[in-house]
Amino acid sequence: NFLPRSGLTRLSGPHTGRVPVGITGRRPRIVVTGGAGFVGSHLVDKLIARGDDVIVIDNFFTGRKENLVHLFGNPRFELIRHDVVEPILLEVDQIYHLACPASPVHYKYNPVKTIKTNVMGTLNMLGLAKRIGARFLLTSTSEVYGDPLEHPQKETYWGNVNPIGERSCYDEGKRTAETLAMDYHRGAGVEVRIARIFNTYGPRMCLDDGRVVSNFVAQAIRKQPLTVYGDGKQTRSFQYVSDLVNGLVALMEGEHVGPFNLGNPGEFTMLELAEVVKETIDSSATIEYKPNTADDPHMRKPDISKAKELLNWEPKVPLREGLPLMVNDFRNRILNEDEGKGM
Ligand code: NAD
Ligand code: UDP
Ligand code: UDP
Repeated sequence: NFLPRSGLTRLSGPHTGRVPVGITGRRPRIVVTGGAGFVGSHLVDKLIARGDDVIVIDNFFTGRKENLVHLFGNPRFELIRHDVVEPILLEVDQIYHLACPASPVHYKYNPVKTIKTNVMGTLNMLGLAKRIGARFLLTSTSEVYGDPLEHPQKETYWGNVNPIGERSCYDEGKRTAETLAMDYHRGAGVEVRIARIFNTYGPRMCLDDGRVVSNFVAQAIRKQPLTVYGDGKQTRSFQYVSDLVNGLVALMEGEHVGPFNLGNPGEFTMLELAEVVKETIDSSATIEYKPNTADDPHMRKPDISKAKELLNWEPKVPLREGLPLMVNDFRNRILNEDEGKGM
């Protein structure tokens, strides 16, 4: 095979008669798997805004066309209904691999499918990256640290994960996806990037995906009690979606494989989060305690020194500024839902 392993030159080789695209400066062509989802759709907006050609691959398990409808008709945008568990042939320069349900409620719904998405889906996207010489970014998760015994978590920590629990389809799935990425990197020379994303929130989250921020915000707007699981003293660190998207692009464009923690180190107990939601939406909101779920991590907070130093990235939006930014979006969608029900 005389063709160099590069998506760029492949498209412009002797068959097409075109001069190498590196010289013509063809726009970068980028695949975003899971691009109809919460994070993916914000990432696609950023890539389109800066002038890239973007192809979204999504099976619409948790994603929605509404998240991308403003791009329909844009000649630089394409949407393909496809399940990453099946192979696919494309010619692109970069692959952002996000396809995977992220909320515990969604990923536990069909755990075998979650594992297949993480393992077979990632394998297919790495096979694609290898064939066309594209750079590949994996959106892994802070869940690879499990219920961490080190706090805050650095990338060097190997984690404390239950391999046979209800969350394992997701966290062990993502750990395997990281392993695959590193094996394709070492074994096949694929340029990979690994992001370990901590809890992220913002507009376009599914209204009823069961995550704590979307639950509390929707509950406060609907005048329902905020459901705190367990004693509410467990902690999480919440990152606004635009900070994450900037971090993903910095990682993709940079020279470092990672893994990199991408998260906001501001740490809150669930009771503190409930207070911020009350301050932001409705000070009269009440709290209702519910039993916690199995294997719930007690605390989570990223150490982001590595991303600060090597990617020159850090989050800019604190929780009290970010929450109001998602409230309007939630209000509008809840209103539409109610109208749809004839309420
Ligand atoms: P999301 O559920 O909103 O988006 C996931 C998207 O992937 C959806 O559009 C869904 O339809 C699609 N998808 C799922 N399975 C697929 C399959 N087999 N084939 C094709 N498409 C498929 O979730 P999100 O919050 O946007 O998360 C995006 C990525 O970031 C995920 O990989 C997730 O694990 C990771 N992540 C997110 C967070 C967070 O807090 N949001 C934290 C850590 C990691
Ligand atoms: N693959 C894909 N698109 C491609 C190239 C590969 O979907 O353009 C899939 C392929 O079907 C396989 C996986 O990626 O299931 C891994 O491919 P690789 O070539 O690394 O392994 P092999 O096919 O030799 O097992
Ligand atoms: N949680 C809660 N009330 C809810 C939903 C979640 O108290 O309505 C808790 C949950 O038990 C966990 C934390 O909030 O301790 C974060 O849960 P989420 O599902 O948002 O994310 P993850 O567990 O994946 O970090």
